[in-house]
Amino acid sequence: MTDDAAAAPTCLARPLAGPDDVGCAAARGVDGRPLHAAALRFFWGPMDCGKSTMALQMNYNHARQGRRGLVTTRIDRSLGPQVTTRIGLSHTAIEVTDDLDLRALVRGRWDEGVRVDYLICDEASFYTVAHVEQMAELVDSYDVDVYAFGLATDFRSCLFPAAQRLFELADEVARIQVEVLCWCGREGLLNARVVDGRVAREGEQVVIGDTVDTAEVRYQVLCRRHYRSGDLGPRR
Ligand SMILES: [Zn+2]
Repeated sequence: MTDDAAAAPTCLARPLAGPDDVGCAAARGVDGRPLHAAALRFFWGPMDCGKSTMALQMNYNHARQGRRGLVTTRIDRSLGPQVTTRIGLSHTAIEVTDDLDLRALVRGRWDEGVRVDYLICDEASFYTVAHVEQMAELVDSYDVDVYAFGLATDFRSCLFPAAQRLFELADEVARIQVEVLCWCGREGLLNARVVDGRVAREGEQVVIGDTVDTAEVRYQVLCRRHYRSGDLGPRR
């Protein structure tokens, strides 16, 4: 256990009260239930389904209502500390490294007098399982909403460890409803890694590539049938 965990026994929600902060004890309805119950939500889908776009839209919607949040990412396609989307949106973001403690990140902002109401965690499948545990603690002990976005499965069609933990712990899990189609027209479900024109079946779990045809390692979303047969369809 870290010092951070040991230092979190009491109400830590927004220890630096802002002008509109009602504090922990008052934030209950007449039935005694918390007026605002934070939640951990996981939105998942294959590559190209618009996860990062939805992440930025979520951030925008909350910011518009006066809430303040942090955007985090890991291994964004831009390889920079930002969330970028295939349709051209971008937003600066905090890069999540193995060493980063999301609880310490939030507390650090609070110590600076900056409110943090929610986290937008893009590319959450690439985070560690420990990061997911930290997300749950932020929700339960700090009353911070956490919205995580990511892939469910890797190129071998196996769950990423962080995605598995999110499925296990999240209050709400939702498959992103923007359909990505396989070349055959069926719904695309699985992220195939294509190396030298063939579907790779083994290798490192995370290898950076893109979904454009010219990339050395590329990814292509396929239906299960064509993922299993390795048929990449007619050349585009
Ligand atoms: Zn197909």
